[in-house]
Amino acid sequence: MAKTMAVNAGSSSLKFQLLEMPAEQVIAQGVIERIGMDDAIVTIKYGADVQGERLIGHLEEDDEHVTLSKNGKGKKYENVLAIKDHQQAINFMLQKLTDLGIIQDFNEITGVGHRVVAGGEWFNHSVVVTDSVLEKIDRLADYAPLHNPANAMGIRAFQKLLPDALSVAVFDTSFHQSMPEENYLYSLPYEYYTRYGARKYGAHGTSHRYVAARAADMMGKDLSSLKLITLHLGAGASITAVKDGKSLDTSMGFSPLAGVTMATRSGDVDASLVYYIQEREGLTNDEMLTILNKKSGLLGLSTISSDMRDLLDVQDTNDHAKLAVKIFVNRIIKYVGQYIAEMGGVDALVFTAGIGENSAPIRQMIIDRLSYFGIELDTDANQTRGQEIEISTSSSRVKALLIPTNEELMIARDVEALK
Ligand code: AMP
Repeated sequence: MAKTMAVNAGSSSLKFQLLEMPAEQVIAQGVIERIGMDDAIVTIKYGADVQGERLIGHLEEDDEHVTLSKNGKGKKYENVLAIKDHQQAINFMLQKLTDLGIIQDFNEITGVGHRVVAGGEWFNHSVVVTDSVLEKIDRLADYAPLHNPANAMGIRAFQKLLPDALSVAVFDTSFHQSMPEENYLYSLPYEYYTRYGARKYGAHGTSHRYVAARAADMMGKDLSSLKLITLHLGAGASITAVKDGKSLDTSMGFSPLAGVTMATRSGDVDASLVYYIQEREGLTNDEMLTILNKKSGLLGLSTISSDMRDLLDVQDTNDHAKLAVKIFVNRIIKYVGQYIAEMGGVDALVFTAGIGENSAPIRQMIIDRLSYFGIELDTDANQTRGQEIEISTSSSRVKALLIPTNEELMIARDVEALK
């Protein structure tokens, strides 16, 4: 059966998932971290149904081993070795998939879908990668300097090793291209939009698109008839108003720095304050951007951690942690309120990503604050983690749904659709 690989290439890492399509069955997933270093780490998880039982325990090299998962069904391959670039990382990974019996031959992989962060106004849906598409992804590096070059590198490396596989680009921004101009334009001189594309593009589009479609399925309604607010709350967080199945507005902006408070990103800040701090502290533009992207958010406010779990653990005894959680929840409430007003109502709130899928207390804090518009939490159902479930009561006028996101599946489906 044809296999499709969903790829997320970062500057020093590469995540992948290999799916049997159209069965949509995940047969392996993994990550290569620290690409470019002498101690790169390769992890591949695969299931018991993979052909051919393999050695469990240490293989010949010290750092290379395969372990069985607790339930005995899954296996995990791990290795630490020198990997100089993405090309070598992908070559090693494909070879290892073959050695482990997950694939018999590279040619079984007939499609590769790549997550691309910035698609600008050029891409409002996923596309087959051509030379002109690649050139545009390169040019869009201005909008996502840390991501697009790495995404393009991943695409080129796969094309070299799997020249016959269909190569597809799936953009984080595509879903939000449906926003009307009153939502995507900043109140800046219009010429900056025409000259530089200075506007809101949003992000996490593949995740918002996936959970919105799943929400409609769970509700037994047509997506085009619903008003949804999808809350992707992970290390990066964004909130989207989905009306008639389309993104109407979203909290991230020109870049993924805008919107709600995130793990280390500030979210919305008065632009003049940035200049004020930069001048007082004598910071360069890059240093200021690093503070806004890497040292702000939950980490900056709490001074102790960017991880919501750590903050919830100590919020009763640590005022900074408590404040960070309070601000995180409050920013979300404000966006939800805005989007209810913009859509003229809401049928369901959808929680997804690390915090949204796993944190019952955060979901409860958000929903309790929104009870005025007819949403009522089922506190038992809300204890669920990481699986699809309705967490509002049966009498709740507005539904609350927990839906684990699955960007890889969405990428694989887009590849299938373009075959
Ligand atoms: P993501 O970016 O979607 O992988 O989400 C990662 C974030 O999810 C982490 O930084 C944690 O803050 C958060 N997270 C994961 N599990 C939990 C949990 N059980 N409770 C609260 N936050 C969690």
